[in-house]
Amino acid sequence: MKVQNKTDYLTGKASDNALLNEDEIRYLLEIPYNSLDAGYIMACANQLTRQACDGKAEVHAQVGMNLSPCPRNCLFCAFAEVNKIFTGKTELPVEEVVALARRAEAEGANALFFMATGDYPFERYIEYSHEVRRTLKPETVMVANVGDFTDRGARDLKDAGYSGIYHAVRLGEGRDTKIKPETRLRTFEVAKDAGLKLGTCVEPVGPEHTVDELLEKIIVGRDANPCYSGAARRISIPGCDLEKFGMINELHMAYIVAVTRLAMGLDIIGNCTHEPNVLGAAAGANLFWAEAGANPRDTNAETSEGRGLGVTVCRKLFAEADFEVLNGPSIIYGSNDSISLDTEITETATVPAPDAEL
Ligand code: SF4
Repeated sequence: MKVQNKTDYLTGKASDNALLNEDEIRYLLEIPYNSLDAGYIMACANQLTRQACDGKAEVHAQVGMNLSPCPRNCLFCAFAEVNKIFTGKTELPVEEVVALARRAEAEGANALFFMATGDYPFERYIEYSHEVRRTLKPETVMVANVGDFTDRGARDLKDAGYSGIYHAVRLGEGRDTKIKPETRLRTFEVAKDAGLKLGTCVEPVGPEHTVDELLEKIIVGRDANPCYSGAARRISIPGCDLEKFGMINELHMAYIVAVTRLAMGLDIIGNCTHEPNVLGAAAGANLFWAEAGANPRDTNAETSEGRGLGVTVCRKLFAEADFEVLNGPSIIYGSNDSISLDTEITETATVPAPDAEL
């Protein structure tokens, strides 16, 4: 058995840190994920990730601060009002947010994410963030996982002690969500201007997404020069409109993780996948998330009792994939100085409330 010459050429090109063009990424995405060539590509992605991150994986921990039926109605989200999973609002008191953050910090999380839903007041998010920041070690990396914000909001996040954000132009953005892709891109830009680093991802991937859609989102992410990209599958929310499409399996997701690794180039050192799994790490993922509190992929209001894994479990999954996990603050969120934005933006800034991301 032998892989195709073109597969061999493209993996070699990526190893030389030469950026693959769109046709080349398309070729990779079109390869069947359970083929010999796909296996070779996943093994190459594993090697490239180890090279990019000096063999160190990271576990970041997310605290979901509230849950609420969200009027943005992203169809893949458990918080979407239309999905009728959560009918009432609940919110963690700041003491609980602090306790969850400190626990994750003590367990060795390399960065802490704070997530809130669409109708959570931005001022309160900032206020809580200052309070949490005061209780954490000065070197602990904080990342904001909120919705689209203005330049003023970006500066407030920076002043509250955040190193970066998680943000994405999601698959089906503007079709399966009520948010325009341009709004997401504008948030990339204002975050960059405030000195916040961007982590992004090709998500949430479902069986119905075409090669063209995956390719577009890989390129959008790459053009933003993030500190990491990667890929994550959609988790079906019971009763939601997208449930009829089902879910891709872990092997399929791992293959998209591998193609994203090859497409990003070695200067983007992080490559995430979610939810955490060994196959994804073996295909080149070096970033997992632990989760506590609310979770947009879970119907359990406290995800640590549902789908969410803890920091220790995530570290163990990386160990099973023969990855060493970094001890100390995230290198990924320290890996570039700012976000560069090459993608054209056609919409002027809007001022929506913060919201939660997957
Ligand atoms: S993903 Fe965010 S904006 Fe969309 S429904 Fe969920 S909480 Fe609201």
